[in-house]
Amino acid sequence: MQHNIVIVGGGTSGITVAAQLLKYRPDLDIAIIEPSEKHYYQPMWTLVGGGMFDRSQSERNEEDFIPKGATWIRDFVDSFDPSEKTIVLRSGEKVRYNHLVVAAGIQLNWDQVKGLKEAVGHDGVCSNYSFQTVAQTWEYIRDFKSGTALFTQPSGAVKCGGAPQKICYLADDHFRKAGVRENVNVMFTIAAAKIFAVDRYARELEKVIAKKGIDVRYQHELVEIRGESKEAVYLRLDNEQEVVIKYDMAHVTPPMGPPNFIRNSPLSDKDGWVNVDSKTLQHKTYPEIFGIGDASNLPTSKTAAAIRKQAPVLVANLLSAIDDQPLEAVYDGYTSCPLVTGYDSLILAEFDYDKKPQETFPVDQSIPRFSMLLLKKYGLPNLYWHGMLRGRV
Ligand code: FAD
Repeated sequence: MQHNIVIVGGGTSGITVAAQLLKYRPDLDIAIIEPSEKHYYQPMWTLVGGGMFDRSQSERNEEDFIPKGATWIRDFVDSFDPSEKTIVLRSGEKVRYNHLVVAAGIQLNWDQVKGLKEAVGHDGVCSNYSFQTVAQTWEYIRDFKSGTALFTQPSGAVKCGGAPQKICYLADDHFRKAGVRENVNVMFTIAAAKIFAVDRYARELEKVIAKKGIDVRYQHELVEIRGESKEAVYLRLDNEQEVVIKYDMAHVTPPMGPPNFIRNSPLSDKDGWVNVDSKTLQHKTYPEIFGIGDASNLPTSKTAAAIRKQAPVLVANLLSAIDDQPLEAVYDGYTSCPLVTGYDSLILAEFDYDKKPQETFPVDQSIPRFSMLLLKKYGLPNLYWHGMLRGRV
């Protein structure tokens, strides 16, 4: 099999790139390799966990978003042979390309926390991080009456760096509305030494935490979940001591990392991510390859919002590469994290590689606002399904 442009992964970035390419050049021969029949709007899972949407509202059929003119290859990529410009599929079939876009997302490493895989979905342990587990989060929060409600964030890159704390704020708000907050100890444990990477937003989040009375423990890396005794075991990163916290419900953000088939390929950097130039998104060794989104080593927070700004840069530079022209489009690291702080408030963090704010609206976005919550709840899902994935924005 041979295609002019092959895209690995038909998630947020793969579909967005394909749609934009075909908008500018409907004649292009593009194949998307994607094993899943379903496409998920993952940013909605925070709100599903908080009981604001049913998980089915985050799901669509993949085939409805494969842009007209593109070929869908429903299989997994197993390995890359960039010297032969060839990919090997799980079926054993080979696909040759002239240009390649790697958009395969990030891998959830449930196994890295002992006992987590066995416990998630019961024993009070839940996680917003998969379609299979997200509905349980709301069931546990809704039914919670007293005890310790624990929320965790691991070290390293995760999808949307703020998401682990958003569900904690929603739970706190729900417990207040349900009149049980005084019987609940809300705890948030985080492997990092601060609550958010950008000081401007971290300062406001610290105020939110103080106001809500959330018990935050920094430099706590979750290493084990003991489902039967409802204990979370941590390694403290500041003094290497073990700490055990008893919980009654626990929302766990699993450790994440590059997909194994990328880590084990010539395309990866030393940490396993697709090794691209941070400005042009072109691969550092193979000029006919580009990388985008969560699977790439772009040094910014991994979000769909970041992909919205990466995609036009990749598309412009890929079209230039096809025409043997210099690559002139530049990505500045823009990313955005809508930090839900309750059912009626949100801090809309937007910043670039230098962690300089790049805010869209003419208001102080570091202040929690109802208008921004409405944007997250109603505006952004529509922007995603009808704008981004259709190649329009
Ligand atoms: P994905 O969309 O994950 O797509 C990767 C695709 O690659 C998948 O379809 C997968 O099936 C496919 N694939 C995997 N392995 C193979 C293989 N071997 N061969 C071929 N295909 C393969 N972002 C925001 O902007 N704002 C938010 O508020 C926000 N909140 C979030 C909250 C949660 C709980 C979660 C989970 C995510 C959130 N995100 C948010 C992050 C956002 O969803 C991701 O950053 C974005 O979807 C990543 O897009 P991607 O294309 O890189 O990867």
